[in-house]
Amino acid sequence: MEPQAERSALTATAYGAGWVWCAPGRLLHGAWVVLQAGRVVDISDQTPAGMQAVHLGPGLLMPGLVNAHTHLELSFLADFIAKPQGDFMGWLETLVNLRPGYDRRQAKESARRAATFAAGQGTVLAGDITNTGRAAWAWAEAGVSVISFFEALGPARAEPPEPEMKWEGNYFSAQAVACHAPYSVPSWRMQALKKKAAAIPLPMSIHLAESRAEVEFFTGQGADGARMEDFLVRRGLQKADMDLRAGRPLAHLLALEVVDSRTLLVHGVQLTPEELIQVAAQGASLCLCPRSNLGLTGAVADVPAALKAGVNLALGTDSLASCPDLSIWAEMRKLMEVYPELDPEAVITMATSGGAKALGLGEHFGRIVPGYCAPLVYVDLLETKKNEVLPAAVAGGGDTVKLTIVD
Ligand SMILES: [Zn+2]
Repeated sequence: MEPQAERSALTATAYGAGWVWCAPGRLLHGAWVVLQAGRVVDISDQTPAGMQAVHLGPGLLMPGLVNAHTHLELSFLADFIAKPQGDFMGWLETLVNLRPGYDRRQAKESARRAATFAAGQGTVLAGDITNTGRAAWAWAEAGVSVISFFEALGPARAEPPEPEMKWEGNYFSAQAVACHAPYSVPSWRMQALKKKAAAIPLPMSIHLAESRAEVEFFTGQGADGARMEDFLVRRGLQKADMDLRAGRPLAHLLALEVVDSRTLLVHGVQLTPEELIQVAAQGASLCLCPRSNLGLTGAVADVPAALKAGVNLALGTDSLASCPDLSIWAEMRKLMEVYPELDPEAVITMATSGGAKALGLGEHFGRIVPGYCAPLVYVDLLETKKNEVLPAAVAGGGDTVKLTIVD
């Protein structure tokens, strides 16, 4: 990357690469992408004249990545919490016990480190859950556009601020609304939050069907559900006050009419193929957090069924309390490991345009199209045949294969 100081923001620069993946179904050989003031202005198969031209190499130039679900402010917990061993309720107990004891300086340093790492991995947009609003600065410092989802819990805790969004050049930031989960926010409040979220054209985020405990809590059967009910009672939440409308978490949300094209459902590990069809019918997006889901619950969502149903899928890392780092490349690899039959292009789509759409920014991020935002990511592959480019990028990107971020 050219040092920012050496070129004016108004000067166009052309970046050439052996392959350019612009969007699903559009992989170009030997193309050039012209960037100006942090946005794509042109894509050409000729070396553009009259401007600085930088040929990156024979590898793959692609859109920057989207991390649609993380909790940057929990980064400090990485040092305190043991690797999750499939015991979701045990992990949740540890998390809420550890959280009050944090040191603000240490939390700040861990957030900075994690956001810088994410930016170095090519992440350009994040959907970040927050209870304090104390992490947005770290994303801004790292140059990663961010939607800070202020998370409401219980009947009254943490009322999210009024939603707002703004652009500064190609940098986007917003404060939006998140409902923690269908088992932790009473019906009346969830509906009020959905109304509040509608003040801006961005989604409301909800953790859904993450664990077996959650499903059992709704059905009222099973030891894990009883454990969750007991956990909630100790935190002042009675099941009777939740006003549950159905025996499954998704059916409950559907009955409350809070699932639509501006709803970002997160995890969905326990959703059945029939429920995934309902999610698709509502036009809602689903964010998978493969490493966190496997660590906390031993499973990930039924991705083949979700793709078949036409659900828009995104990828997220979740927090460092349940995942070793904020690399979306590692999430892509984990998903391919669980479902080796997946098309790598479908997985790259989740990490780019799928994530951008899930965050309500599908017209601005996740594709290489004139008007869309940089930074872009160059994956430093050797000479590669067309059908091997995307698999090779997923297999090594950000790990054994070096990345260059260009804007
Ligand atoms: Zn989460």
